[in-house]
Amino acid sequence: MRQHGKKRYAPVGKVLAAVIGVLGIFWLAASNPTSASDPPAVKRVVVPAPPPPVSVYDTLESGETLAELLADHGFDGPAIHQVTQVVRDVKNPRTLRPGVVARFTGPASSNPESVLLLVSADSLLELVLRDTSWSASVRTVPVTIDTLRLAGLIDSSLWFATLSGEVDKLGDGEFQEYVYDMADNVFGWKVDFTRDIRRGDAFRVAIERERRPDGSVRVHRFIAIELANRGRRYQAIPFTRPGGHREYFDGEGSALRGTFLRYPVDFRVTSSFSRRRYHPILKVRRPHLGTDYGAPRGTPVKATAAGTVTRAGTWGGYGRMVEIRHARGITTRYAHLSRIGVRQGAFVEQGDLIGRVGSTGLSTSAHLHYEFLVNGAQRNPATIDLPSAPALEAEFTQEFVGVRDQALAQLDMVALPVLPAEPRVAAVVAD
Ligand SMILES: [Zn+2]
Repeated sequence: MRQHGKKRYAPVGKVLAAVIGVLGIFWLAASNPTSASDPPAVKRVVVPAPPPPVSVYDTLESGETLAELLADHGFDGPAIHQVTQVVRDVKNPRTLRPGVVARFTGPASSNPESVLLLVSADSLLELVLRDTSWSASVRTVPVTIDTLRLAGLIDSSLWFATLSGEVDKLGDGEFQEYVYDMADNVFGWKVDFTRDIRRGDAFRVAIERERRPDGSVRVHRFIAIELANRGRRYQAIPFTRPGGHREYFDGEGSALRGTFLRYPVDFRVTSSFSRRRYHPILKVRRPHLGTDYGAPRGTPVKATAAGTVTRAGTWGGYGRMVEIRHARGITTRYAHLSRIGVRQGAFVEQGDLIGRVGSTGLSTSAHLHYEFLVNGAQRNPATIDLPSAPALEAEFTQEFVGVRDQALAQLDMVALPVLPAEPRVAAVVAD
């Protein structure tokens, strides 16, 4: 086996989890569905059991080729040549990255007869020796599907939510992914997660997960979400029209998707940015006729709604800016950009990339200045009532009601948390 030049140390727990995960993958890959019931025993014969096959694990090092790794495990020149040939049919061996874990299995006193490489989180490369020839195949890492139910009570921000429900099932960083997804893809039209989340807000969510043997989540799908935000209740239930996209509706079948996004920069970016450093621009300066989003230079800026670009260039204190005219007398402006990605006169769809965050014009550091104008007058997009996408058509109502009831039953397995009432101070009566 190759000497490892450099060693990186990781927390014992993580290493252990990784090892157990890898073993789990190999175990699942090895388990055979052919374990039928035993045939009736006729005669008992004692045969010396062959020694069990032995597995050895190794990792592809940086700069090491598959051929070199195989040579370390007893493969001779012709065998290496043959394996490389059959691997090429299913996978380019040069795409194997350092860190790929390989399991070599074979009789204790002989060369390996099978090799299993975990080439990515979701794919395995299997090499098998039959008689004298090797074959190669690519397999998908098996996943298990489960349902996770969580609730959260927000203290100061989503990052300081007190979680309840099946918290012990959550992996590292998993909750954050759900928050980003909720903020941008579910409630992005209804609630500005960058500034409208308050202490006492709460949510509960049921999530279907596809998990890999190491416990990491390959895919998640929301089954249902409920968000209590500043005294309003929002429910989100996904539903897919035949041949359509997965969309979120409330309990009555109204679409959550709206004609305008509540914010032009991904929550993922602004939230982590605001947490990381203090942003002087975010201090309220009056008069300030727009909303400032702290985000690093270069962050993509999205059109909050479909419309026609009426300005794309430098304009006084706005610096490099884009202005879009939408339906119903609404105009949006995106200022201090470092780069502009559209031309005047172009038509853009909601969510299209129109530029990148910068600090041009009257600006002291990178941020996005966003304005929302109705008939030429600046308005607060957070408080304005904006139209939603069309509700679910009547022909799907019956099917939706079935989906909804099942989804809400999942949600009801956790309670929506509420802030405990402020303790009352009883009058002290001196006697
Ligand atoms: Zn501003």
